[in-house]
Amino acid sequence: MHSYAFPGDIDPVLMEIGSQPFLYMRTQEFSDINLESEKILLDLIHCTGGRTIIYTGSGTGAMSAVVENYVSTKGKAFVIDGGSFGHRWWDLCRYYGIEVVDYKVPFAHDIDYGDLDKRVAIERPGVFLCQHHETSSGQLFNLRKISDICHKYGVSLVVDVISTFLAEPLSMDEYGIDICITSTQKGLNIPPGLSVLFFSANLDGYPFAHKGYYWDFEDNFSNFRRGQTPFSPATILFLQLHARLKQLQAEGGESKNISDVCHRCEVFRGLCRKYGWDILAETPSHAITGFQTNDTAERLIFRGLIDKYETFIMPGSKPGFYRVSHMGLQTDKELYELAARIHEFEPR
Ligand SMILES: *Cc1c(COP(=O)(O)O)cnc(C)c1O
Repeated sequence: MHSYAFPGDIDPVLMEIGSQPFLYMRTQEFSDINLESEKILLDLIHCTGGRTIIYTGSGTGAMSAVVENYVSTKGKAFVIDGGSFGHRWWDLCRYYGIEVVDYKVPFAHDIDYGDLDKRVAIERPGVFLCQHHETSSGQLFNLRKISDICHKYGVSLVVDVISTFLAEPLSMDEYGIDICITSTQKGLNIPPGLSVLFFSANLDGYPFAHKGYYWDFEDNFSNFRRGQTPFSPATILFLQLHARLKQLQAEGGESKNISDVCHRCEVFRGLCRKYGWDILAETPSHAITGFQTNDTAERLIFRGLIDKYETFIMPGSKPGFYRVSHMGLQTDKELYELAARIHEFEPR
């Protein structure tokens, strides 16, 4: 079985942890593991003096937590709505009754940054919410330009880096980002189930709201300060996360992982050219390739790959549009094989 859907193929050493007996969470041993994970995470995202919260919950749980605890204190929010993940920020703001500007960006297009500057100048939001990479299309946004606009108008910047952490170069310090979020099933390449919030030192002492019991920031901070969580954590996932982070630390940080992701992406994009599949994103990320085939709404490729080869790729929002993740383990040979198999099921 091969998976080119999130999280992709996972290192067997990390998978093995999931079948072993695990320690009780209310121990100093578990606390030490989490405190070390926090330190490595902050190094990997370049967040000097920052803090983290690690939640048992998927990435959307972390998005919800940010809206409940932080966005709700900021008056008006401004959202980059370039696909289903951007739209989710908007949806969450609406759910909590927060005033929000829905800045729509056409599917797979980059932002018109000049126009964005004008809109932010007019709207004067308190907080800016975006994705680094809109995973539904493969479009990467320019964080340098976004950050410049936010700083020009004094707007707090929150970025969903769920699908770029460890896949694209990223520094919270450099871009002056207040909060970033990620989750375990993307760049970290372990099973889904945990999400990580990174807080810049700017937010030390910030009066967060208390609008959701389970995700309450202050409760989570006060527990995580000693490596603990207020409620039962998904212990095995915390252990897999720690083991994965130790691997990254031993590799000397994020660079090797990012260059591996880039390499797989380049190999697969060469194959897309060979088979005549267009990459729709104007500025594609390295994390995934979103490509257009001739498949029908019946998704013959998707079904064929599962039934004949036990292989998963991700269908997109329109017929024939598929996404292949490069954040899981994959060899060049496997990618050649994958492309040939996609071609095998593509209607002529
Ligand atoms: C995967 C992803 C999410 C979170 O989705 P969950 O299913 O809740 O983990 C959010 N934003 C982006 C950009 C993503 O790629």
